[in-house]
Amino acid sequence: MSRPSLFDLENHADFVQRHIGPTAEQQQEMARVLGYDSLDALIDDTVPAAIRRQVPMDLPPPRTEQSVIDHLRSLARQNVVNKSYIGTGYHDTYTPPVIQRNVLENPGWYTAYTPYQPEISQGRLEALLSFQQMIMDLTGMDLANASMLDEGTAAAEAMTLLQRVNKKNRSRLFIVAEDCHPQTIAVVKTRAAVLDIEVLVGDPEQLLATNEAFGMLLQYPGTHGHLRDVSPLIEQAHEAKTLVTVAADIMALLLVKSPGDLGADVVVGNSQRFGVPMGFGGPHAAYFATREAYKRSTPGRIIGVSIDRRGNQALRMAMQTREQHIRREKATSNICTAQALLAIMATFYAMYHGPQGLRRIAERIHRLTAIFAHGMAALDMDPGNAQFFDTLTFDVGDEQQAIVDRALASGVNLRILENGRLGVALDETTCAQDVEALWRIFSGKDDVPAAAALDANIDGYPGIPEALQRETDYLQHPLFNDYHSETEMLRYMRYLEDKDIALNRAMIPLGSCTMKLNATTEMLPVTWPEFAGLHPFAPADQTRGYQAMLEELDHMLLEATGYDAISMQPNAGSQGEYAGLLAIMRYHQSRGDHQRKVCLIPSSAHGTNPASAALAGMKVVIVECDERGNVDMDDLKLKAERHTEDLAAIMVTYPSTHGVFEESIIELCEVVHQHGGQVYVDGANLNALVGIAAPGKFGADVSHLNLHKTFCIPHGGGGPGMGPIGVGAHLQPFLPTNPVSPVPGLDTANDVVSAAPYGSASILPISWAYIALMGGEGLVEATKVAILNANYIAHRLQDHYPILYTGTTGNVAHECIVDIRPLKEASGVTEEDIAKRLIDYGFHAPTMSFPVAGTLMVEPTESESLFELDRFCDALIAIRQEIDAVQAGRLDAADNPLANAPHTLADVAASDWDHPYSRELAAYPVESLRRYKYWAPVNRVDNVYGDRNLFCACPAIDAYRETAD
Ligand SMILES: *Cc1c(COP(=O)(O)O)cnc(C)c1O
Repeated sequence: MSRPSLFDLENHADFVQRHIGPTAEQQQEMARVLGYDSLDALIDDTVPAAIRRQVPMDLPPPRTEQSVIDHLRSLARQNVVNKSYIGTGYHDTYTPPVIQRNVLENPGWYTAYTPYQPEISQGRLEALLSFQQMIMDLTGMDLANASMLDEGTAAAEAMTLLQRVNKKNRSRLFIVAEDCHPQTIAVVKTRAAVLDIEVLVGDPEQLLATNEAFGMLLQYPGTHGHLRDVSPLIEQAHEAKTLVTVAADIMALLLVKSPGDLGADVVVGNSQRFGVPMGFGGPHAAYFATREAYKRSTPGRIIGVSIDRRGNQALRMAMQTREQHIRREKATSNICTAQALLAIMATFYAMYHGPQGLRRIAERIHRLTAIFAHGMAALDMDPGNAQFFDTLTFDVGDEQQAIVDRALASGVNLRILENGRLGVALDETTCAQDVEALWRIFSGKDDVPAAAALDANIDGYPGIPEALQRETDYLQHPLFNDYHSETEMLRYMRYLEDKDIALNRAMIPLGSCTMKLNATTEMLPVTWPEFAGLHPFAPADQTRGYQAMLEELDHMLLEATGYDAISMQPNAGSQGEYAGLLAIMRYHQSRGDHQRKVCLIPSSAHGTNPASAALAGMKVVIVECDERGNVDMDDLKLKAERHTEDLAAIMVTYPSTHGVFEESIIELCEVVHQHGGQVYVDGANLNALVGIAAPGKFGADVSHLNLHKTFCIPHGGGGPGMGPIGVGAHLQPFLPTNPVSPVPGLDTANDVVSAAPYGSASILPISWAYIALMGGEGLVEATKVAILNANYIAHRLQDHYPILYTGTTGNVAHECIVDIRPLKEASGVTEEDIAKRLIDYGFHAPTMSFPVAGTLMVEPTESESLFELDRFCDALIAIRQEIDAVQAGRLDAADNPLANAPHTLADVAASDWDHPYSRELAAYPVESLRRYKYWAPVNRVDNVYGDRNLFCACPAIDAYRETAD
């Protein structure tokens, strides 16, 4: 027998088998159970031959974890982490290590899903509710949502909200102050253009005097640092029935009057500098706050307080929970994945420091800025703005280049502005020596005063006029005052984490969401300073490591999708949809086809599809599905024919949201192309395709890829995500760019969909690492096993529950829909009862009532082991027996373990137990739970009560103390 060589031994990459749940023997056995000789035979019988790839992906073989880490380190070393004074909405910050290690680097937090199932999400719901409270306090508004994708998007959403709610002024004009951040202006302009909103950028006072506008956007302080009292402008606007958004700096709000006090109707901004690394652009949580009156128009997710069955306080996602799925193209926004994890980090930062600590940080930044200004004046360089919080702009004329050169030579980035100006924004990491270094850089002299010596000249808040100084308190709630010792902070975070089910506890079988392994190796680079510490507008020669990583990732994703070009800008699937549809619109316009605005969307589509189409200015026309769940080709042909003159696109998900590989996809693409339309394939289900079929090769023109589904970025409890788009060569010229840091190879006049050029760049190494670890063959195997696992579940469940849709050969794709409607009809047990009963069994429920009401959609992914698949199937089968018992009268029709699920520890430990079934059945319906039991912290949450009594702030202090005691 020949022994392996040293080379073989050293290059044995076992990651693929760590990522994939079932072993090779188990895969073989599972295929046999399904009636196939091999896994390949199952795949051949499941995936239509016509769409199969002919050529394998051109990707290297799998690599070891150590070699991938080494490679990423070498990329990281090519990035240069300068001290950044660039500002423009991004500032350096200290992430408290206790938060970095226990939240950002903790799978208990980062692998959780969006809290659609509130009973297993009370921890992150409490943290997000506190985020809302923090934003309300700091902005002075009545209501805040639980995060937005970035400040630019938030400002654009604010514009459309103002248009919706401003019934007194129906003009189509929107005024933007010229001192807003340039990337915000660009995102707003792109959004406005397709919605026929005219944007005027300039001096807001003049523009207001001469124009009738429905809304206006101001920046506070302005992008160049000027801090002005916006209240006279807001008053002037309100007199003209113009509503006002103020984009505000969260750190400045600790010292200056809140925009709410100054009369703002909406306040938006970025919470990044509350402890979240700049990350070359993201991810960070933007915020959105508004008046109570506009709450039903507010975009994004809002957490609300409700009660559970026992009347105890319980939190839930209010309103928006199913907003897009119900309102479709009339939805207020297309936002789905937002920035939950980062919102949670910013909130913990505020809890860790507390109101006094935060104020001290802001005061220190302001004082150093004042000292800096003072020293600059002594050097004969007065800032252009006498009023400021932390940012000053200097007119240095011809000296600009010399100063920039000196800065770069000492590892410092300044903001380079037109007309010989330079901007300097200080942050919490700036210290006295830094200020002295800045003086040397600006003056070119070695001999500068000691910063401390100038401190005596500073009195009060020199940059903040009396009238703008903040008088109102903030963050008085005990939540922001009880956790200042690290021990208490640590335990509070652990207390919240323990309430939730994340992937480190159990399978999360959410159809369409692809909750798979987020390997630790993949996560490591995210917090390396060379990836985390870069400003999105840092000079290109400092970001070579990122550029190289992006280029390699581009190549990897192009191989996986069969497209010709990629844009990394969209920071969620929904934004990818928007960016892709914009590219389609621009393409049509470039050919003179301005009338092509109809977007066909099958009735089974995800809610973001029609919502994004509406955002892109398209008209949605629904295509029906047939009784097998497939797109009804006759209806498609009819509608494509009818709209042959004005067809812009079709948006289809493949494999479909019904969990099957539709045979007709190629014909569908052909029909749409014949009628002049473009094909958008929603790539959320790419986990069923990678390596075996490529949308770019079977007829599609553009797709978004949810990197937080298929490519292992964790879901973070509702974000972050990344939604880059792949496009055919003909759409490449229409990909989005950035006004400050243009994307190479694109026209600088192109659209802008996110604030940063590469979206949430710092999480891209996760996907890079995943692909490198798996290699081409590993990715193919992952896809096959994802399909195997789904078919195995469908097979095990089919005698107990009907599987709603299958393909022509009786197989499903990578997920399956379990139909509860017939059972519900017969027994009265609902899909919700089953979802909640699964919690008693230790599981997160599958996707409920999407895409079909009254069903559960199960997606196991390749990462779940046979053990876990069986445990899950056993649970669902045991639940089916409970339903039988209800039907047969062995369990009470109303008072049974399904109707009362989930059961809390308090339920079963109470001295009074008056249910007609046992405590054992309630808590330990299967023996395996004796080994490990998850206890839901609340009983079933009352949605109706929550909707009727909408309350979206932290409960009053007394009530809070009571529950805490
Ligand atoms: C998840 C999903 C989306 C939305 O993606 P986000 O990243 O959450 O914005 C769109 N379509 C389908 C089918 C999805 O499953």
